[in-house]
Amino acid sequence: MRIGINCGHTVSGTVGCGAVGDIDESVEAREVGYALENLLKGAGHTVYDCTNDHADSVGKNLSNIVNMANAQPLDLFVSIHFNSGGGQGTEVWTYNGKSFEEATNTCKAISALGFKDRGIKDGSKLYVVHHSNAKAMLVEVCFVDTDDAKKYTEIGANKFAEAIYKGITGQIIEEDLTMSQYNELKELIEKQAAEIADLKNINQQLVNVVQTTMVYDFNDDNMPSWARPAVQAAMDCGAVQGDEQGRLGLSYKDLRAIVREYRCGLYNK
Ligand SMILES: [Zn+2]
Repeated sequence: MRIGINCGHTVSGTVGCGAVGDIDESVEAREVGYALENLLKGAGHTVYDCTNDHADSVGKNLSNIVNMANAQPLDLFVSIHFNSGGGQGTEVWTYNGKSFEEATNTCKAISALGFKDRGIKDGSKLYVVHHSNAKAMLVEVCFVDTDDAKKYTEIGANKFAEAIYKGITGQIIEEDLTMSQYNELKELIEKQAAEIADLKNINQQLVNVVQTTMVYDFNDDNMPSWARPAVQAAMDCGAVQGDEQGRLGLSYKDLRAIVREYRCGLYNK
């Protein structure tokens, strides 16, 4: 999507800088708006920053914003504001109060952070909504001069940017693992690795036990192929003899010894 983002008003302390209560609208609109821009860019959307920091008048500020927004075709224009005058909750202003997905979902997502959903309002008389060529929505995140401000500060601007991002794109930001979750996962992986190592060790011990307790009675298929010529030579020269039934009764250790001796030429006739 091509999205124009306007962090509402001029910078704090200048003409047209917006509402000031327990928090400063101009400052927080930039906190939320720029975080939103980064999220959208990170997800591959084309973002146009339509923020105007300085203007001679409120009227000039508004026309500057709209000129930036209308300088290119946009799929959506979003203006970030904070409300004042006593009240609670979040609301989104659209042309003729039209409900569209991005607008209603933004209300829902901010409301999910613990704010009253005041819904979609008719923003036809708001300059930036009225004059934007693209589909436009003006978000009043929450109130700067009521309990909302305290809640907003505790939650932090990033969560509001994520909520608006979710409202616009329908996508949720993947949470990074917390340090304790990371450590828990690391511990689990290490524990499992140790268990696998233990199992391998036990398996090797079993192989050793089977090899060392195995008895080789005849020079047949049961005899390891590496030992067969040596055992045959030892039998041929009488160094190894079976019992009455012809059983050799050789252990794994015996086989190793016979092979060693065979290599040393002990069984040469
Ligand atoms: Zn405002």
